[in-house]
Amino acid sequence: MRVAVTGATGRMGQAVIGAARERGTETLPVSRASERIEGFDASPASNLAAVLTSESPDALVDFTAPGASVEYAAACAEAGVPLVTGTTGFSEEQVEALRRASDEVPVLYAPNFSRGVSVLDSLVREAAESLPGYDIELTETHHNGKRDAPSGTAERLLETVEEAGETTGRTHGREGIQPREDGEIGVHVRRAGDVRGEHELLFAGNDEVLTLTHRAESRGVFAAGALDAAEWVAGRDAGWYDFGEVLAA
Ligand code: NAD
Repeated sequence: MRVAVTGATGRMGQAVIGAARERGTETLPVSRASERIEGFDASPASNLAAVLTSESPDALVDFTAPGASVEYAAACAEAGVPLVTGTTGFSEEQVEALRRASDEVPVLYAPNFSRGVSVLDSLVREAAESLPGYDIELTETHHNGKRDAPSGTAERLLETVEEAGETTGRTHGREGIQPREDGEIGVHVRRAGDVRGEHELLFAGNDEVLTLTHRAESRGVFAAGALDAAEWVAGRDAGWYDFGEVLAA
């Protein structure tokens, strides 16, 4: 198994390279020229198309930024290399561009590659369906370098609540005189230190409070999930795949 890794100098890129080394997966690190580190052997991202064509990796694992991921998806489509991306913060147009690439190659996008978050999503669905009328508040915490807010995982959990329950909209933070409206989902974002990722859903009503919390304790959990996804997606037909399919396999 051999994977190209874009964003190789980033937090997740480094975690993917470390996790790949542990499981004996060969990596082809790729990073932006401006972020190349002395002693770290990575191809410049401007050469990605050549790397994909000449080295034919089994998949590209990408944790970068939305614009870069869209560009890399097009390079994968051109070179016939499956893409696994965990980048978050895509606009609808950017998701459309990823989907276009999935006409040519397998594309697996997941805003969270942890098994625990996948279970959390199922539990949140069950709670939202089973506790009608309860107040729902989501709080997420990430490291101080995270750019998008709320996190991609929070967005996914909010969509689950909205599909499963009867909600009227999201309220991002509160300030001044702002009483809670029936049916709203409160959304609270914290950015501090090097927190890997915490998500808490609170359901309150009927003189009781239920909280469902997930905490990632290292980036290794996301790296392992992305590499599992790369192994699963390698050699598949072109198409749009979900991490749930990897977990169900
Ligand atoms: P980071 O800032 O540490 O690293 C980002 C990397 O992407 C760097 O190597 C940087 O050079 C590169 N990059 C950034 N913008 C670029 C651009 N315009 N063109 C080319 N390269 C660019 O960030 P990180 O913590 O590694 O996170 C990266 C992404 O992965 C974020 O979107 C984050 O939310 C997401 N993430 C997803 C999961 C998941 O499980 N899906 C887990 C953690 C992080």
